[in-house]
Amino acid sequence: MINSEEFRQHAHQLVDWMADYFNNIRDYPVKSQVAPGAIMKQLPESPPLQGEPIQDIFEDFKKIILPGITHWQHPNFHAYFTGNSSYPSVLAEMLTATLAAQCMLWETSPAAAELEQKMLDWLKQLLLLPEDWSGVIQDTASTATLVAIISAREWKSDWKINERGFTNQERFTIYCSAQAHSSVSKAVRIAGIGLGSLRKIEVDDQFALIPDKLIAQLQQDLKAGFTPLLTVATIGTTGTTAVDPLAEISEICREYGLWLHVDAAWAGTALILPEYRWMSSGLEHADSFVFNPHKWMFTNFDCSAYYVKNPEILKKSFTLIPEYLKTGTKGVNNYSDWGIQLGRRFRALKLWFVIRNFGGDGLRKKVAEHVSWAKQLAEKVERHSDFQLMAAAPLGAVCFRYHPQSYQSDINQLNRELLNKVNQGGKAYITHTVLNGTYVLRLVVGQTYQLKEDIDNAWALIQETAAELK
Ligand SMILES: *Cc1c(COP(=O)(O)O)cnc(C)c1O
Repeated sequence: MINSEEFRQHAHQLVDWMADYFNNIRDYPVKSQVAPGAIMKQLPESPPLQGEPIQDIFEDFKKIILPGITHWQHPNFHAYFTGNSSYPSVLAEMLTATLAAQCMLWETSPAAAELEQKMLDWLKQLLLLPEDWSGVIQDTASTATLVAIISAREWKSDWKINERGFTNQERFTIYCSAQAHSSVSKAVRIAGIGLGSLRKIEVDDQFALIPDKLIAQLQQDLKAGFTPLLTVATIGTTGTTAVDPLAEISEICREYGLWLHVDAAWAGTALILPEYRWMSSGLEHADSFVFNPHKWMFTNFDCSAYYVKNPEILKKSFTLIPEYLKTGTKGVNNYSDWGIQLGRRFRALKLWFVIRNFGGDGLRKKVAEHVSWAKQLAEKVERHSDFQLMAAAPLGAVCFRYHPQSYQSDINQLNRELLNKVNQGGKAYITHTVLNGTYVLRLVVGQTYQLKEDIDNAWALIQETAAELK
């Protein structure tokens, strides 16, 4: 192993590389161009017996690993949803890695527990979330949704399922829209509810859940002897960033006694803008809420802000303290009681760096730019005679397809080819979705280092590439 002086030298070298990487990031192909197995075959069969110099490992990182990296921080990363970092976030991650503290109990790092509590309070103020909510950082929205379902399950079963499993248990049902994220299905499976008890409610022409269809399904399930447990409402679906009508859904949940979990994984960040506050109307009636600063709030993965109305339900569902973890300290948060894992990274530090360095106004300015560029792009698509806008673009995702007027063959296939050709060029990376059986291209705006011209360039590239397809 190297010593601390060598560590210092290598760290300086790596920081120089990091700064150059961000300066030159537009020169990298956004989507990795390697074939399956190409990286694996460059890696030795067995681990080395003798230690190797860091310099050699770093050279191999550049030679072997980098070509197999998709550059999520490239300003023309328009795929999926953004998974942003930023300079202040990366700096904080360096410190977090250096401290390498396990932040499971207050005592295992009081600063981590107290900073986490304060950062979730700051986020609450930034997003104008209900003041009486309590928050905790989960690793991902998938975990947060699982935690919500398990909390609801325990609350509804009077903590019996934690104790004796599903023996003699009534059959729960869970509700979400047909556009809800796949993490809901996964959580329903893991929580033991079973996929067969998940009801995917029909959506309207804006891809948002139809409240009347939810009511009809609830009534049908009640009649059939099920116990409706929980509804997931989405603010900003993954397909089209559709916003479920929260006010109506929350009313239905109260009337039928359901837990309301709100998944705002990507779009939650937009709640910092006054013009998006309409999305959270009714949110004060939710039992739990999640959004990911690690998607659009310039904070490195993993950092998922999970809020609950009643932290006692959460803690009662998850606390399990063996003797060796018992501490006498009162009035503090032991966050391993607030979720699944025992060991936890110090994730609040990067939020602190990001929120302080951007400032509320800095965050708002960037997000406002992103949504305005997305809207401008949606307008351009709509005006273009050979392209079709395929869904409303209320936030940062623009869903469209190429549809040249004279084209008689398979439009889905044409768009598949367009997507592949754009992505193979390495200048931009877009992905697709399927809406009502139609293959649709999906371009997400919202990368940290993005400029307006990056969006213009992506749109020009798509038009040029499309014109070359025949
Ligand atoms: C991305 C996304 C998720 C999953 O987020 P993870 O943090 O990766 O688990 C869940 N719901 C929605 C709406 C998303 O966009």
